[in-house]
Amino acid sequence: MKECRRWENEPIAGIVPEAGNSVKYETGSWRTYKPIWDEKKCNQCFRCYLFCPDMSVLLKNGKVSGIDYRYCKGCGICANECPKQAIKMVLG
Ligand code: SF4
Ligand code: SF4
Repeated sequence: MKECRRWENEPIAGIVPEAGNSVKYETGSWRTYKPIWDEKKCNQCFRCYLFCPDMSVLLKNGKVSGIDYRYCKGCGICANECPKQAIKMVLG
């Protein structure tokens, strides 16, 4: 089973005890708000994909296909950048 590390288990003061370990951290556990993507409104402009700081906008067959909630921290940048209001931020 893949190791999943959560912020609750980390040392105080943001110490990084090992290099190259980011994939082990499912940073989605930090999230307060989550983006909901509406496929019907989306025009596939890729702004959400390009601006997401966590590479959490999923692509399938060269098209935006959803959000990877394992790593999405809920920053809302994708929703802010979307010209079609196809991403809505909701609590959760
Ligand atoms: S809320 Fe932030 S981290 Fe999550 S998909 Fe949008 S831009 Fe990426
Ligand atoms: S920014 Fe909005 S319209 Fe553009 S690909 Fe993302 S969800 Fe679709």
